[in-house]
Amino acid sequence: MKFRIKRKINPLALFYLKISLVISLVILAVYAGIYQRNNRLLLDALRQQAASYYDLIVRVRHWNAGYGGVYVEKKIGMEANPYLQEVGVEAEKETVDGTLLLLKTPAMMTREISTILSDVNKIQFRITSLQLLNQENAPDAFEQRALEKFVDGEDEFWKLESRDSGPVFRYMAPLFFEQSCDKCHFNFNYNPGDVRGGISVTIPFSPTAAVMNDNRLTIISLSFLTLTLLLGSTYIMLNTLGNKLDTVQGALLEASIRDELTGLHNRRYLMTRFNEEFERARRKGTTLGLLMMDIDHFKVVNDNYGHPAGDEVLRSVGQILASMLRDYDVGGRYGGEEFAVVLAETTPADMVRLAERIREVIETREDHGNATGIHITISIGVAVLNDTDTTETLLQRADSALYRAKDEGRNRTVLV
Ligand code: GH3
Ligand code: MG
Ligand code: MG
Repeated sequence: MKFRIKRKINPLALFYLKISLVISLVILAVYAGIYQRNNRLLLDALRQQAASYYDLIVRVRHWNAGYGGVYVEKKIGMEANPYLQEVGVEAEKETVDGTLLLLKTPAMMTREISTILSDVNKIQFRITSLQLLNQENAPDAFEQRALEKFVDGEDEFWKLESRDSGPVFRYMAPLFFEQSCDKCHFNFNYNPGDVRGGISVTIPFSPTAAVMNDNRLTIISLSFLTLTLLLGSTYIMLNTLGNKLDTVQGALLEASIRDELTGLHNRRYLMTRFNEEFERARRKGTTLGLLMMDIDHFKVVNDNYGHPAGDEVLRSVGQILASMLRDYDVGGRYGGEEFAVVLAETTPADMVRLAERIREVIETREDHGNATGIHITISIGVAVLNDTDTTETLLQRADSALYRAKDEGRNRTVLV
């Protein structure tokens, strides 16, 4: 035996999936945007911090260079800059009272301030150049690249770098050659305004990385919360809507198979079920019977008692019919004052017995809801499925049985 499983995706579920996808994409895009913007602001704050260090150093150097270096009292362990002798600048001086003075150049001062800052808050800066006086100031890879960019006209350069001691934010900006520099740096043929070197600032990145990490966790939690809320409420909304639709659909379906006046099944449903039962009886070789009923002289009821009373009678006949059928019998209003019953797996004798009982109950009932004292009778035609029957011929035979019952005097059952 072959089974064919038909999987039908609930359209509301499909809609939910689509809308969830759209909501998720939008929410994630928004939060990703916020996260990136936060990170950009944090990096920009670091860049500004580094730039202001650079600016301060440049001004202090400028102050020093303006005096052609500054003499300080020489203490034990302090060394004069050997290069100064070469360029003919007095590195050491003795005052009239015998105090020894030492010349601190901008480069020396920068290095010393750098050591102080690095000890205090781990921020380092150093001065470096593409043409060196002091090999200790040779640029590293980052500085080398920055200097090349400055020569190409850029005015600052930064990047994140990982080190064994932790990540660092590196910043660099150029130093330009000024006339005051020429006193010591004349041998490189710089012109005022030329990029002579740069100051690089290195700031520990771990605190910022911790803030970024915090941001990321917050953003992930918020996305999760927002998505849960939105997808959850959408789900509840659509589920409620789905239930309402099911109810409406059920009511519509029920209405579509019911006769409004009597509440019995209508002709369309009756015929659908008749065809199904016919197929089944043919397949299984079981019996099938059809009862066609028509109220006798119903026109007279309308004429004598009025149309509303006629309606009451129809309703009452419907109730009698419904109360006398088994669950698996299919009864309904065939039209006007005609009713039909499809009887599966019932012997012809039982079909006639049921028809007769219905007929007798209707015959003895005089009160029909609000319409009282109305005596009616009903004629019933019964046809039993034979080997040559189609649905049409079975229906026709039941119909002709009914008309024979009418012809033979009404208020009777005729079996064909
Ligand atoms: P017969 O014994 O030959 O069946 O006579 P009859 O008067 O019952 O037959 P006929 O077909 O001449 O009349 C049927 C009547 O049923 C006419 C029509 O107005 C009435 N009727 C049909 N549907 C309704 C309905 O919904 N309500 C009411 N009150 N009357 C209806
Ligand atoms: Mg009729
Ligand atoms: Mg009639």
